[in-house]
Amino acid sequence: MFCVAHESRWLSCQIVLLVLAVGWRAALVPLGACGEARPPQGARLGVESALRSRQEVAAPVGDPGENVVPEAAADIERDGAAAPGVAEGEVDGTPDASEPAHALEADAHEAAVKASVARGQSTCGRLENGIELPARGIGFERAPGKRSEHAFGHALVVGALKRAAAAASSRVADQRIRFGDLSREGGGVVPGHLSHQHGLDVDVFWPLRHAGSRAPFPSLLIPLDAAGSGHDYGDLACPDDDIPVVLDAAALWAFLEPLLGAKEPAVARLLLAEHLRTLLLAEAARLPWLAPKAVERFREVTCQPLAPPHDDHVHIRFFCPMADIRNGCEDPAPIYTWRARHLEGVGLPQRASKRRRCGKTATVSMAQARRAAGEIHVDVERFLDRRRTWSRPPKTGRPYCP
Ligand SMILES: [Zn+2]
Repeated sequence: MFCVAHESRWLSCQIVLLVLAVGWRAALVPLGACGEARPPQGARLGVESALRSRQEVAAPVGDPGENVVPEAAADIERDGAAAPGVAEGEVDGTPDASEPAHALEADAHEAAVKASVARGQSTCGRLENGIELPARGIGFERAPGKRSEHAFGHALVVGALKRAAAAASSRVADQRIRFGDLSREGGGVVPGHLSHQHGLDVDVFWPLRHAGSRAPFPSLLIPLDAAGSGHDYGDLACPDDDIPVVLDAAALWAFLEPLLGAKEPAVARLLLAEHLRTLLLAEAARLPWLAPKAVERFREVTCQPLAPPHDDHVHIRFFCPMADIRNGCEDPAPIYTWRARHLEGVGLPQRASKRRRCGKTATVSMAQARRAAGEIHVDVERFLDRRRTWSRPPKTGRPYCP
């Protein structure tokens, strides 16, 4: 989707989405003056609700409370090494060996991990025998409207995402992690993305709540400010349908924690806007269950990219699975000291590859998107002006964040 054209020119995801929203809603209801022709309730929840109603989502979302949650977080040792009893490279572990179905799943997963190969790098790469992230599972779903052919990842990554989402739902039972694009089945260029080429990248939408009631709000690509606040603006020209939302930092931390603690696949980068990094670190101090080492790792691997600012989702990039490095997978820079230690431990070279780019993707500039949006009401205008203040990456002075 337009919104996830990473490391590209200035881009306004919200505007593009809102343009889409207006388009879809126009198809659903006759648009009149503000307040006269209201979209149906479902559509008022956002762009994706409108998409869902037209695209016949295969199965209902279901009640998160029904989920049986494996102890995924416990499967991962906090200091980055595999937990006792969990083979290296198998972050997933086995949730419940007494269940034959789980044992079969574990065997299938192990075979898939062995078959999956990431080659090249995120901006110029391929994926062999990747697996598809299911449309939904314990604690997660793929974002409605995202194309299933962009939902393939390295088996290690897909397994880790599923486990982390399950762990998150055990902490925050009424939330669901919503995933955007991963990669194509064979890798290569994913339209709208400059990376995502070899099965080791994924976009994660913010878990959100209604600002007032704190009830869960479906994750959309909504840009958030330094307070973690934003709006689903709905009809851009109409202030009446705006819904204020806030980031659910606890749910996001519950999802990130097991990923940040894993050695395979190891998180190489979290791309997100600096003000949201600051907010998440402040929120981390209020979560007694959160492993300090996960927070330390988060501090190290988070950076705001050159553009766009990643204020409407977080992009996770993983290092190469160790087994793939000899098969041509190239680690991105930087190689942190802990990564160098892991590589050294298995006799692999401790170096990052120079970045290459393959393939072209269309991007939309902020100015283009704003022009295309047509009429927008004053609050949207003000938010977009405010958004400019955090659109350029700050000079943090931190190592590894240029
Ligand atoms: Zn991305």
